[in-house]
Amino acid sequence: MATDTLDIEQLIGWDGLFHDEERLVRANVRRFVKERCMPRIVADYEAGRFPLELVPELARLGLLGANLEGYGCAGMGALAYGLACHELEACDSGLRSFVSVQTSLAMYAIHRFGSEAQKTRWLPEMAAGRALGCFGLTEPGHGSDPGGMETRAERDGGDWVLTGRKLWITNAQIAHLAIVWARAKDGIRGFIVERDRRGFAAEDIPHKLSMRASVTGGLVLDGVRVPEGNRLPEAAGLKAPLACLDNARFGVAWGVLGAAQACFEIALKYACEREQFGTPIAAKQLVQLELADVASEVVKASLLSVHYARLKEAGRLHAAQTSLLKRNNCRIALEAARRCRAVLGANGVAGDFHVLRHAANLESTFTYEGTDQIHTLAIGRALTGSAAF
Ligand SMILES: Cc1cc2nc3c(=O)[nH]c(=O)nc-3n(C[C@H](O)[C@H](O)[C@H](O)COP(=O)(O)OP(=O)(O)OC[C@H]3O[C@@H](n4cnc5c(N)ncnc54)[C@H](O)[C@@H]3O)c2cc1C
Repeated sequence: MATDTLDIEQLIGWDGLFHDEERLVRANVRRFVKERCMPRIVADYEAGRFPLELVPELARLGLLGANLEGYGCAGMGALAYGLACHELEACDSGLRSFVSVQTSLAMYAIHRFGSEAQKTRWLPEMAAGRALGCFGLTEPGHGSDPGGMETRAERDGGDWVLTGRKLWITNAQIAHLAIVWARAKDGIRGFIVERDRRGFAAEDIPHKLSMRASVTGGLVLDGVRVPEGNRLPEAAGLKAPLACLDNARFGVAWGVLGAAQACFEIALKYACEREQFGTPIAAKQLVQLELADVASEVVKASLLSVHYARLKEAGRLHAAQTSLLKRNNCRIALEAARRCRAVLGANGVAGDFHVLRHAANLESTFTYEGTDQIHTLAIGRALTGSAAF
């Protein structure tokens, strides 16, 4: 083997791209993941269990509401938040999904569209991990086209009555509050629904084969009555939930890179140690092709992600750029996981080697927060001015 080797982070040229605060966030989350998450993730995944015990530690690291200002939130920049997502998903996409939904969907919805009373009531509790949130947009009959939603919000005196179903909702069964999007007479509106409201229930989705260390369920709203004070006053129309998704996609795009890099590092180590035909398989040209291809895609996606993070910090990241980033990174991460899985041969399907778990999770990231195809069309619309949805 050549002695003059570069690891993937040297190949990316990470060092020099980050400020001190960003380096510190990355180091702290990396240590937390190594010490607290990695030792248990294989068992959690197999058991279909989200590690709820770790939530207070995620809160202490400032990761819940990380990129929001005030109300007990850490106020991190976009790149620091991206790096935190990267490190979490190097362990498991479910861990990062929990943080994404709490931070970028539930807390962000309240922070951006809520009243002052709603913000002071919920955000400090959510930042501390004492109140957990979920985000109910998708319905059994409406995923990519949420504008068709059937969940209704009807005025009754000073209250609202919510009726409908939501499906594929991350954190549904562990959430203390749900952000529920529903159709009112004057368009789509958002509501905070506490889980102890009469008529509200969260249901399991059985036999889930991806994101097994994440909680995913359905919400039943059977005439749930909430006061006007639970409506998000600044949210009017579909553009409100779409703004939340746009915000959350950025974290997804960064997270999946962490999974891709983890798969690459596992495959590289394995290839250097595994001998066949008298030499390590890392010395075989076809194995090097796999490693070089995966590394190239990870390097390119990482650098694009840094560039777009800086644009986001400057308030200049366009929604089409977020679509491009989400689509690109989810694609290359899934492809990386599949190719790395093959480098491990039969061991690639063993839980202890992690890669197939990442691949199974990345199938979900390919679909949620806008499918690959929907982001293709979003980019196409931005390029041509024609919506082809
Ligand atoms: C693990 C997991 C967690 C999730 N968490 C949440 C959550 O917390 N909150 C939430 O609200 N939702 C959540 N979702 C739902 C997710 O956002 C939806 O699955 C996604 O939006 C796609 O909707 P769908 O599954 O109904 O697929 P569909 O919309 O039915 O699409 C099926 C296929 O048709 C394609 N398609 C659809 N329209 C077009 C078109 N116009 N042109 C070309 N192709 C098209 C799609 O790309 C896809 O390949 C989660 C999903 C998963 C898997």
